Amino acid sequence: MQRQQFDVVVVGGGIAGIAAAHALVHAGAGRVAIVESGPPLGLTSDKSTECYRNFWPGPDDAMLRLVSDSIDRLATLTERSGDRFLMRQRGYLFATARESEVDALAKQAVALETFGGGAFRNHGRGSRQPYTESPASGLCRDLNGTDLITDRAMIQQHFPYLSEDTVGVLHARKCGALSAQQLGMYLLEDAIDHGAQLIATDYTGIETAGGQLSGVTCRSADGDIVLETNALVLSTGPHLKATTMKAGTDLPLEVEKHVKISMSDRLGVVPRDAPLIIWNDPIDLPWNDDEREALSSTPETQRLIETFPAGVHGRPVGAGDQLLMYWTYDCEASEIPTFPIEPDPFLPEVTLRGMAVMVPELSAYLDPMPKPFADGGYYTKTRDNRPLIGPLSVPGTFVCGAFSGYGIMASCAAGELLAAHVLGHKRPSYSDAFEVTRFDDPDYVERIAGLTASGQL
Ligand SMILES: Cc1cc2nc3c(=O)[nH]c(=O)nc-3n(C[C@H](O)[C@H](O)[C@H](O)COP(=O)(O)OP(=O)(O)OC[C@H]3O[C@@H](n4cnc5c(N)ncnc54)[C@H](O)[C@@H]3O)c2cc1C
Repeated sequence: MQRQQFDVVVVGGGIAGIAAAHALVHAGAGRVAIVESGPPLGLTSDKSTECYRNFWPGPDDAMLRLVSDSIDRLATLTERSGDRFLMRQRGYLFATARESEVDALAKQAVALETFGGGAFRNHGRGSRQPYTESPASGLCRDLNGTDLITDRAMIQQHFPYLSEDTVGVLHARKCGALSAQQLGMYLLEDAIDHGAQLIATDYTGIETAGGQLSGVTCRSADGDIVLETNALVLSTGPHLKATTMKAGTDLPLEVEKHVKISMSDRLGVVPRDAPLIIWNDPIDLPWNDDEREALSSTPETQRLIETFPAGVHGRPVGAGDQLLMYWTYDCEASEIPTFPIEPDPFLPEVTLRGMAVMVPELSAYLDPMPKPFADGGYYTKTRDNRPLIGPLSVPGTFVCGAFSGYGIMASCAAGELLAAHVLGHKRPSYSDAFEVTRFDDPDYVERIAGLTASGQL
């Protein structure tokens, strides 16, 4: 059996493993291996809607601080790389047709300000508060916090494509989109330039000596390999539960199926510089009477005439005319992922119909509907929808994963935090919020059981 030696072995070449390896080589970890059984970034990390936001609910400021730190690091890498991964800051725009939801949005914006996420600016009728447009390209580091606009003329002036029923929009500003694939490749190339080694093989388990990690076992077509090491980082995305069990820790994890669609917006209904637009109201889809009757006739279609949850969202993507749309109304949860992902056949039309409630002119695409592209992956989630970053039970083993629906935006700060754990460096004060051991604290478990907002879109 072949044996090689490394200072740290990272298993998983998705954004979590690559960002961890990148931070490790830059922090002086020595010889770092990235073990990946498939194409790097090919499992979940290229399925994302590629958005980022510092808009995070409580119960405390830990998520906001982790992701804000990550966004700042991404902005620095944007400058350093010459805009390699096209990071843009057009914001997230939460829209509603309900006065009660305006109040709820205002409360979230005030909470964000309290957590340090930037000022809350309220633009009611007659307000003289200045409203800053988003930069069409590039970043504006000073643009932070939120703008709540309830002056309907002002809403239509800035966002004329939104339904005229819209009574309020909350524009969160330290938010936007980037190319996740380009970001991942930039970090991977840079890590390799600084000494990391990508190894195409399948991790199968660990070896220990005196209760401490001594090696990582792998299997590939060429035979078995042992990577001798005292530090293993597991960043295996939706396979995290199975792979951490092989390293002696059973983690409280679930995977949830998420599928998005994209299609040509050939009529230019949504401007190319629009923010990510999110409809914050539940939706009853506008079927006509004949459609309603036909849909109510079978159990599979009956649910299409029931009320859908709030949160349908979309944004322009890429240099052409593609519009990306996403609605997490039907996320099957399980412990084990199954591939390939089978999208719900109704999802494209339901998502477009939901989007057309927020942006009425999109209904021009309903009859006939252009064939959309649907793809997706799994959110790997803990009970509090926060990541796991830190040591596992066998000394020398670590986790950096369970990145749910925020793994691209959180990757850079998560990688830094992981590296600080492995190397015993000083860690930021939010570190404890992401350690595996938080679930051993009955008070914490009780506290999160009562939480209503998980921050998931
Ligand atoms: C539809 C959708 C939309 C999303 N939108 C956003 C968004 O807008 N913004 C955002 O920040 N995030 C978003 N996310 C979440 C984000 O994509 C994920 O959190 C992130 O990609 C997870 O990265 P990962 O590295 O943990 O997992 P993966 O990308 O799945 O990487 C894990 C890697 O480990 C490898 N692996 C597993 N087991 C083994 C083994 N035994 N041996 C060797 N290799 C192994 C796999 O092959 C894989 O490449 C979205 C996700 C989905 C599905």
